[in-house]
Amino acid sequence: MTSLDEFALAKLEATEARTLRRSLSETAHETGQRARRAGRSLISFSGNDYLGLTQHPVLKAAAKRAVDEYGAGAGASRLVTGNHPLYARLETKLAALKQTDAAIVFGSGYLANVGVIPALVGPGDLILADQLAHACLISGARLSGARVAFFHHNDADDLRARLGRDRASVRHCLIVTEGVFSMDGDLAPLGEIADVARRHDAWLMTDDAHALGVIGEGRGSAAQANVWPDVQMGTLSKSVGSYGGYVCASRAVVDLLVTRARSLIYATALPPAVIAAAIAGVDIIARDEALCAKPLTHARAFARAAGLPVPESAIVPLVLGAPDVALAASRLLEEAGFLVVAIRPPTVPEGMARLRFSFAADHAMYDILRLAEVVRAQVLPRRAA
Ligand SMILES: *Cc1c(COP(=O)(O)O)cnc(C)c1O
Repeated sequence: MTSLDEFALAKLEATEARTLRRSLSETAHETGQRARRAGRSLISFSGNDYLGLTQHPVLKAAAKRAVDEYGAGAGASRLVTGNHPLYARLETKLAALKQTDAAIVFGSGYLANVGVIPALVGPGDLILADQLAHACLISGARLSGARVAFFHHNDADDLRARLGRDRASVRHCLIVTEGVFSMDGDLAPLGEIADVARRHDAWLMTDDAHALGVIGEGRGSAAQANVWPDVQMGTLSKSVGSYGGYVCASRAVVDLLVTRARSLIYATALPPAVIAAAIAGVDIIARDEALCAKPLTHARAFARAAGLPVPESAIVPLVLGAPDVALAASRLLEEAGFLVVAIRPPTVPEGMARLRFSFAADHAMYDILRLAEVVRAQVLPRRAA
């Protein structure tokens, strides 16, 4: 055994002891949020495929056509020879959906966040991030070299106080938050935050990974709050049903990203099939408001039946505390035929391990109410204990 293996095993044992070791489970997806795991068919309430578009026949056909027309891979970065004709079509549609001047597609949402933030701010600047901001926003913030500070979750007053104290001593300030928080499902108070940002000449960047296709008639959190963040980032991998990340912003900002975002410049472009499927997904979101309303309707029906607070998005958290309690609850639901993955630190803060239920347009009401009954009768009593 090498010293590296010894190091790895010791690290793994330490995480195991805290019930925080993670592993991969093979999972095949079928229509209607069905997931096949270890030979069993489960109804998944853990995915981010909010509109069921990953299995949509129009997206599948578009991907197949693109393979035939353009090939399997892009073969180079977008700035070299990988910028195949489908990109411009997707970016035009994204900008129209978000009502911005321009849009730019990245390899993933993660790559967008680690590329965009360092392209906009650096040493001498300040980033103010919501304390629950997603891991890849924090990675991007740290990579930038700017000073990073956190404001209390969804607290515009704390943000205002920090800006009042620190804004004058830095060149630029970037505020970073999520439209819909990925593990809590609550919405940022974007009206207030945008107002505070404007008063202090701070730039506002929103991560709309869980908002696009779900709130604001599918257009996301800025549309719902009727505000105009400087940078609206999001993913093509959740409600859109494909893969990739995007940034919607002014033409000047997008042009700067093309010149400066390292994760765009030094990474190979997405395969044409992925972009073709994303185009079809964005088209569906743009024209089918009724479909986009369903995940929230389903989340609310579940919460009402289970006796949980009314959700603002398609995500319903049930905080259980210790990791082993969350894992046991997840196993109990799996025995009842539901896939609800336990979310543990460091994805969520210490002592806040939870079940995270996510609802999709193609969940059947029968399954939603059955899940609610099991949660009400068997999981909630454990939380009290
Ligand atoms: C999923 C997620 C991302 C990353 O997007 P990918 O396209 O999956 O890389 C970024 N931010 C938030 C809030 C997310 O939930």
